[in-house]
Amino acid sequence: MNQQVNCSATCSQRQGNLIVLSGPSGVGKGTVVAQLLEQTPHLLRSISVTTRQKRNSELDCIDYFFLTKEQFSQSRASGELLEWAEYAGAFYGTPRSFVRQQQQDGNDVLLVIEVAGARQIAQLAPEAVLIFLSPPSFEALESRLAGRATEQPEQVASRLVKAKEEISQKELFAYEVVNDIVEIAVNNLQHIIYSERLKIRQPIR
Ligand code: ADP
Ligand code: 5GP
Repeated sequence: MNQQVNCSATCSQRQGNLIVLSGPSGVGKGTVVAQLLEQTPHLLRSISVTTRQKRNSELDCIDYFFLTKEQFSQSRASGELLEWAEYAGAFYGTPRSFVRQQQQDGNDVLLVIEVAGARQIAQLAPEAVLIFLSPPSFEALESRLAGRATEQPEQVASRLVKAKEEISQKELFAYEVVNDIVEIAVNNLQHIIYSERLKIRQPIR
């Protein structure tokens, strides 16, 4: 897509959008987001804090800020988190300061979070753009989650239960993108993000 469409000349004068991407575990959020970030100027992903154990493929401060439960409770109590939720036995939250700063600088900020967190953002920031990433079928989701092989079978089972709950709440979201072919999903997400940039809004006071 043409660079002029990516970010109009007014980018630096306007507050960036808050983009929320949710979807069941294993649907491919990480996969599509990696490509989306590479291809989309002025879009930054917020790095969440979590108490979950780090996977072998993950890096601290890149994929997540890995915290102890005590550190997480402290962050939450001191108001550092914009939203937070418990998911499959671990806590996750979005650090507030990064989001605020980047939006003020005119960058769009992408939150890749589960549905309870998306609900909190919808209440706090009704202007946020909520997108749900769906699998082409539940069977495809099961095989992706099992194929990723990052969780024990009982954790896979609990994530699949959670997946059904999350899919049943997709009406909360303004957009649904199906992740069948990765490139098509990325393209659709990018179209949404660029269209949202063209909306007429009030400049920052
Ligand atoms: P999430 O971040 O939503 O938990 P991941 O990005 O880790 O999901 O993807 C889960 C697994 O599914 C990974 O092994 C990934 O390579 C695979 N995957 C992602 N998107 C697709 C797709 N469109 N088709 C087939 N496999 C996919
Ligand atoms: P995972 O353990 O697979 O990395 O993430 C589990 C779920 O937690 C995913 O749906 C992921 O999007 C979500 N998640 C990651 N970070 C946050 C966060 O900061 N807040 C909330 N509410 N959910 C998050």
